[in-house]
Amino acid sequence: MNFYVQPCSSVSKIHPFVRQSRVVPITVVKEWASCYNAGEMRLYWTKPELFEIDVEVETVEGCDVVIDPAIFHPDEGGQPADQGMIGPAAVCGADIRDGRIVLTLDGPLSDGKYTARVDQAHRLYTASHHTAQHILSGIADKQFKLKTTGVHIGLDNCTVDFDQRIDWNTATEIERRSMDVVMLDLPVETAFNEPGVRVRGDFKDIESDMIRVVKIGDVDKSACCGAHLESTGRIGMIRILGLENKKEGTRVSFLAGRKALEYAQAEASVLRELRKAAGCASSELPAAFEKALNHSAELAKEVNRLWTLLLPGFVEAAKIIEIEGGQIGVHLSEVPKKFLAKLAAMISQSVNGVGIVVSERKIAVSSCSKSAKEILGQIIGALGGKGGGSATTANGGLESDITFEQIRLILQQKC
Ligand SMILES: [Zn+2]
Repeated sequence: MNFYVQPCSSVSKIHPFVRQSRVVPITVVKEWASCYNAGEMRLYWTKPELFEIDVEVETVEGCDVVIDPAIFHPDEGGQPADQGMIGPAAVCGADIRDGRIVLTLDGPLSDGKYTARVDQAHRLYTASHHTAQHILSGIADKQFKLKTTGVHIGLDNCTVDFDQRIDWNTATEIERRSMDVVMLDLPVETAFNEPGVRVRGDFKDIESDMIRVVKIGDVDKSACCGAHLESTGRIGMIRILGLENKKEGTRVSFLAGRKALEYAQAEASVLRELRKAAGCASSELPAAFEKALNHSAELAKEVNRLWTLLLPGFVEAAKIIEIEGGQIGVHLSEVPKKFLAKLAAMISQSVNGVGIVVSERKIAVSSCSKSAKEILGQIIGALGGKGGGSATTANGGLESDITFEQIRLILQQKC
């Protein structure tokens, strides 16, 4: 028995919500077409907060089953699949296959009657996010002329894409007006085949005989196959977290419900720590942070200037290795990474040969005689490490500490 794909002509006879069975032209993505054609027994549409019910299980193949009625939302429309149990078996996945919702269980289950339980917390997370997305998209569409072009609903991150660039002033206003809708606690209603629905911009032309429509007062009315909350007040909180330019539009990241609260709490915790460290109020933090950054930049500049003054002394103090045909000057002590190559070059010019600088296992070789790359290769070959370069300069990292004596032995043996 299959309750999930009903012939077009029978739709109006079996479901009280279906008022007409004529073909309604609408743009939906092809892979979504099945969900609009097969909604009769989908309780997550009409009873979205029903989390437990007895179902008939029919095995499709192995651990894949279909159930009647459908209480688990499948992975479609940007909303992840529900989790839960059917009798003793855990639901590991829920996909649309040939118009049917096929559940994958963690083990085979004999056909028959079982109690199905949807993981309530998981559903409430995704349904809160999805319902919030309807409100954000509806307000953006009606009040700011922003078309929704894409949606992603996750547990810890959600995005809605608008077709135009928006700034934080607009985003903040959309967020405030969305919270007004939450506070009004409007019912989230399911209807079928109503005209004048909002349709996402990435949908392609296709015709379907039954369109599931989600209505939230006069805020939004859109074609949708997802699971939502029963009313907007159940969302509790909507937070817009980030804006990102995407082609000509904007990707808005947001959270809702408990996830929004958890995010706000984490932010508040960070702010408490920053206020404590800076000894100021939250409103004074941006100025305090900018002042600290400027001070840090000035200090870094001064430190660079002082290191530059020290370098000639390091050149004078470089230990010399005499090899056939020239000299190698070696410096082995802590030098900022950015000065390694510069100091090696200064030493090589001073001895008119090769300069080697090693600091915290970082090595720089500069040469105006022998190949710097070959000298580095000899040291790495003996001690381990990696690096490369050219005949005049080479850089790398050593696997272990090295002494002047080790460098002398390596190079005097090889050169
Ligand atoms: Zn929806």
